[in-house]
Amino acid sequence: MAAGDDVPEGTPAERLAKLVLALRSQGVTDPGVLGAIEKTPRDLFTPELFRERSWEDQALPIACGQTISQPFIVGLMTQALTLEPRSRVLEIGTGSGYQTAILSRLARLVYTVERYRTLMKEAEARFAVLGLTNIITRFGDGGEGWAEQAPFDRIMVTAAADEEPKRLLAQLKPSGVLVAPVGRGPVQTLIRYAGDGKGGFVQESLGEVRFVPLLEGTAKEL
Ligand code: SAH
Repeated sequence: MAAGDDVPEGTPAERLAKLVLALRSQGVTDPGVLGAIEKTPRDLFTPELFRERSWEDQALPIACGQTISQPFIVGLMTQALTLEPRSRVLEIGTGSGYQTAILSRLARLVYTVERYRTLMKEAEARFAVLGLTNIITRFGDGGEGWAEQAPFDRIMVTAAADEEPKRLLAQLKPSGVLVAPVGRGPVQTLIRYAGDGKGGFVQESLGEVRFVPLLEGTAKEL
């Protein structure tokens, strides 16, 4: 392989525009969602080692053995959440904070929970750099939700639960929407739960995804 084979072509702006076009052709068509992706510099959320690959449609490793989600999945999940400008959103699994930043541009308030203190602190610093002031962070076990702030209009889970996330569904408003990867093992089903206003949910499968698992408790390491 010749040196430089891996160096991507184009300026970051050109590569971002290309990524947005690719997402649109794959079905992420909501102009608000595409606009939020366009406005959010993903290279701020990726580690130095992978920075060059920030505009590829791929999940990438971040600290603590976790991953920053693939842009297409971020777009798909955000679109499925059908956010409104007044929405109060709960996100479980802050990770790099990239998905959080996208949500914050489309919702009134975003509450986000992460079980690694290091990731939480790094994400907070990025929100400050971008001037995103409508994000409230918490270090804790997101599996428990955020009872003090419930109920939420929307909930997004960015780590895979073994089964239906009942405790989180209980913190959703009757006509709210929750999107989560559900299933054991490396491949899960992305599920959209839409409240029917009477305490039940209409479920829709949005396809197969690969997320890191939703683990219990907070991480003992940093
Ligand atoms: N949306 C993130 C994805 C991060 S990967 C991004 O694009 O960067 C999923 C994250 O969920 C990891 O950071 C992991 O530590 C976190 N996580 C897993 N189980 C959790 C739990 N019970 N509570 C809070 N965060 C959790």
